[in-house]
This record gives sequence, structure tokens and C-alpha cells, in this order.
Amino acid sequence: MTGFIEHYKIGVKENFDLNQIDPRGKGLFDSREQAEAFTIEAVLKIKNLQYQLFIEGKQSLLIVLQAPDAAGKDGLIRNVLGQMNPQGCQTYPFKVPSELELSHDFLWRIHAGAPAAGMVSIFNRSHYEDVLVVRVLNLAPEPVWRRRYDHINAFESLLHDRGTKILKFYLHISPEEQLERFGERLNDPQKHWKLNTGDYAAHESWDAYREAYHDAFEKCSPDHAPWFVIPADRKWHRNAAVAGIVLQAMEEMNPQLPKINVDVDEIRELYEQAKRELAEGRK
Ligand code: AMP
Ligand code: MG
Repeated sequence: MTGFIEHYKIGVKENFDLNQIDPRGKGLFDSREQAEAFTIEAVLKIKNLQYQLFIEGKQSLLIVLQAPDAAGKDGLIRNVLGQMNPQGCQTYPFKVPSELELSHDFLWRIHAGAPAAGMVSIFNRSHYEDVLVVRVLNLAPEPVWRRRYDHINAFESLLHDRGTKILKFYLHISPEEQLERFGERLNDPQKHWKLNTGDYAAHESWDAYREAYHDAFEKCSPDHAPWFVIPADRKWHRNAAVAGIVLQAMEEMNPQLPKINVDVDEIRELYEQAKRELAEGRK
């Protein structure tokens, strides 16, 4: 399968409207079985490409995850993205900024998580919170957050120029599915740690968030840092679509194992000699 990037990428110029995208959509997949089989295969290929990216040590990949609560950022990391080798991949969950973080510019803590050459960074929430929750809850004056779209564009250009591929995902769930999942949390004591009155405030501000997301998509979608809207009411679709996009992007990055600068025949000779010596009991 191919064409994931083209299918899920937001075409901002065509008057993009989130409300026109069905959160229950199945995208490029026909069935749950097909999507799950695809995800398993894609994850194996992603792992192999990540190994090559790490060894190549030149390019890097930044995956940004944004979504309403309970849309499945954690599940996506657990089941798909987190399968990468931790030696070359790091996840950064961005929470309410600490006092220290607030005493710096909003990108200070974000930049520290940007991937080094050869590495993959996964942002569970991101610098976009500074034009989303901050805007909706009025945590900074409007002139302050309005200027941030330019800051974000400059920051992402900087990372791109340094060799970082940027993929930004919005997990798109319906308010009905969100409430359903809140209910599951309530009924499962294992999930009670996730309960949070703030989630209900955000649920109530659904339209304000929609507007804030719309502006972020519209203002911050250059070709080198696109947004992908992933219908996420069906977890199997969410996982398969993101796996497909990440796989396609990494294939396009085409990381190369380094050219060898040793004489393989000479090494083979040494190897054969070592084996002979061991067999003859000289070691
Ligand atoms: P969670 O991802 O569910 O663990 O929750 C993290 C919380 O931190 C969410 O309520 C976010 O809205 C909040 N958060 C993340 N970044 C920021 C930020 N820059 N300013 C204010 N709140 C934030
Ligand atoms: Mg939460």
C-alpha cells in the first residue's frame, strides 16, 4: 500500500474544514483485519528503517502528536511508535509548564527535545499547546500567542534546515467517542489515575479548540512540516494510518548504511585463521 502522505495531509489552500472529516473514517483501509495486518508489517519495516537512520547518523525525524483527551496518543505510542529501538528514539510528554519552563520562551523546553542526527523524537503534545490550550484558557494575552505562529514556523524551518523531517499528527475523534472513553476510564479502576476534571472543561470547549486547531493548521503547514488529520474513533484505523505515513516518510528519507572502508577479504582471512587456531587448540 502507498499514498498515505497524500491521502491524510491537510490541503490548507482548499479551505480546509475539520468538520468535513469523519472521525469514524477508515481512510485507505477496508476492514479492521486488513488494517491490523498492515500495521504489524509496517512496524517491522519502520524498525528496520530506524536502524538504518541511526547508523547513517545524518538525518532525524520529529513526530508531533496533538489531539483532544482520550483520542489515543498514548495507545498510538504504546502500540506503534514505541516499537522503535529506544537507543535511537525518545518520547517527550509535554505537561503544564513548570515555573522554570515558564521563565523561558515557550520553545526552550521544546528545542531541548528536538532529535539529534540519527535520532527520532516523539512529542506527546508539543509547542502547539502554546497556541491551543493557552489560547482557549486565556493563559497568555492574545498579542503574545498570536506572534507564536511565526515563532513556530521559524523554529520548524530551523529544524528542517538542519536535516529533520517533521510529521505532525492530529488525532481526530468525535465528542461522542471521547465521552464514551471517559466513561470507560470511570468504570475501570486501573484507569482512574487518568481522571481529570480539566478533561471535562476541554470537552465543553470543543468548538473553541476546533477553532484554535483550525488556525494552527492554516498558519503552520509549510511543505516541510505538514499536518495529517487521522480519523481516530477506530483505534485500528488510527494505528494503521499513522504507521503508513511514518513508513512512507522514512522510505522517502531513504537512510543509507555507510560505505565500508575495510577490506572484507582481509577480514575474512583473519576470521578463518582465528577459527583454525581455535580448532587446533592453540588458544
Ligand atoms: P496529559 O497529556 O493528559 O498528561 O495532560 C497534559 C496537560 O498539560 C494537558 O492538559 C495540556 O493541555 C497541558 N499542557 C501541555 N502543554 C501546555 C502548555 N504549554 N501550557 C499549558 N498547559 C499545557
Ligand atoms: Mg489527559
